[in-house]
Parts: sequence; structure tokens; C-alpha cells
Amino acid sequence: MQTRILKALTCAVVFAATGNAQAASTNSAMDHSTAVDGGVAVADTAAAASGHASEPEASGKESSGGHGAHWGYSGTSGPDSWGRLAGDYHLCGAGTMQSPVDIAGGFSATGEPIVFDYRLTPLSIVHNGHSVQVNYQPGSGITVAGERYELLQFHFHTPSEHAVEGQQAAMEMHLVHKNAAGALAVVGVMMEAGSENPALREIWDRLPIEESAAKTHERVLINARDLLPADTGYYRYMGSLTTPPCSEGVNWYVLTHPIQAGIEQVSKFAKAAGPNNRPLQPKNHRLVLVPGAAD
Ligand SMILES: [Zn+2]
Repeated sequence: MQTRILKALTCAVVFAATGNAQAASTNSAMDHSTAVDGGVAVADTAAAASGHASEPEASGKESSGGHGAHWGYSGTSGPDSWGRLAGDYHLCGAGTMQSPVDIAGGFSATGEPIVFDYRLTPLSIVHNGHSVQVNYQPGSGITVAGERYELLQFHFHTPSEHAVEGQQAAMEMHLVHKNAAGALAVVGVMMEAGSENPALREIWDRLPIEESAAKTHERVLINARDLLPADTGYYRYMGSLTTPPCSEGVNWYVLTHPIQAGIEQVSKFAKAAGPNNRPLQPKNHRLVLVPGAAD
């Protein structure tokens, strides 16, 4: 309980400090990039163009509370209440294209492969009160269907947010990308509890156990590429941020192949930030495209 109160207080301080979600997103998602030529200007333009659609998945910190409303995963500020916590969060309650969803009964389609262009980055890690997030230096990204999206950050949920045929995984990683026009593309990677994942070690050894400011370990270089499965086929659908303000228009690519995380790795994350999964949302009229055997 004390931890929860502390988190709420810290959250409020962050809101006051950042003023609005835009600022929070731009500052926190990009603060690591201020020394890098070009990246900031592009990112700022993208953030401005995307309006509120960039937070908080795309942000480093409590853009969640950017407009002043604290939210969480249980109790009166839990997912069922998000839509009522702030005007900006109304889509969390009223949206019809919300995430996550149960990926089942999809339509077979051949999608173009995602081309991953991920580079090494100094490990910059933050516990934002809702998840543990690794912020990425500019210069990494994906290209899919001819469109380039810059990798901003990745973070984790436990248990997984998406489900496949009703089955959740122990965890899910979200790699959040944005294109020059401000559109978001999130690559979701299911994480099964199994063998220890050496690619997580550098991050997990430095995993913040409670909400705290971003810390950059200049000498620890990581590459998100190491966290991807060998087969990067995907399910695709249009959805939303899974955290307030639940903005829609997010291009979701949930990889069909999971990666592994050790049972102790899962439990370490769960103690630090879990459970932090939004419940499944209605699919409504949406199609989920699944990799097909066409051609
Ligand atoms: Zn997420």
C-alpha cells in the first residue's frame, strides 16, 4: 500500500513537471537523443504531427498522466475506469478499435516481411510506474510495406496483453516505432516462461525495482535485435495504445513466434512492475491478418 501511495505521489510530481503529454513524450522518449544529430528534430516533428497519439507507449515516462490523471492496473484507477479518469482518456472507454485483442479466427494473408534495422544503443532504462522501458537512440527502426518507422523504445508487460487463440503468455515485449508522419507501429513479441534468455541479462541485471528516473549506462550496449525470434512473421491488425490515452490508429504487428524468458526473469519483472496488462478488448468489426500459405 505504501508503495502504491508513493507511486501516486511520484506520478503527480511528474505530471506537474511535464505539464502535458506532448512534452512528456517528447522529453522522455527522446531525452537520450539530444546529443545525436538530426534525431531530435525528426522526433519532435513526429510528435507534433501525431498529436496525443504518441503517448504513453511512445514515451519514456508518465505521459500516462500527462494531463494529470493518475492511472493504474487495479482498483479505482484500473483499466475499467481509465475512460472516466480524464477527458483525454475517453477512448479507453468509448473506443471501438482498442488493444489488446485475442488473436483468433484471423484472415489469411501474405504480408510483406518486416525489415528490422536495429543498431546497438547504450542501455537507457526507466521504471515509469507502469512498466520498465528501455529508450532507444535514434537510428534504428523497421521498414514494412515501404514505410520506415523509427524505434523509440521497448517495454514489457506481464502477463502478456495480447492472447493467441485465447492463450496468454507469461510476458509480452512492445517495441514502439513512429514514422515521419507520426503514425505508430508497435511490434509485440510474446515471451514464454522457459529457459533463461541471455539477451535479457544486461537489462535484467539493471532492472529498476520501483518507479525512478531514467538511467543511462553508457558502457552497456544492447541491441533489441537480440530479443527477436528468428522467424519474424506476424499477425497484423489496427488497434490502439494499451495504456491511457488509448489512442487509436496504431499499426500492430504481433509476432507469431515467441521468445523465451527464464522463470526467474519473469518473476523479477513481475515483482518490479506487474501485473501490468490491460484486459482483452472487443475486436468489433476488425480483421486480424494472419500469415497465410498463399502463393
Ligand atoms: Zn505496451
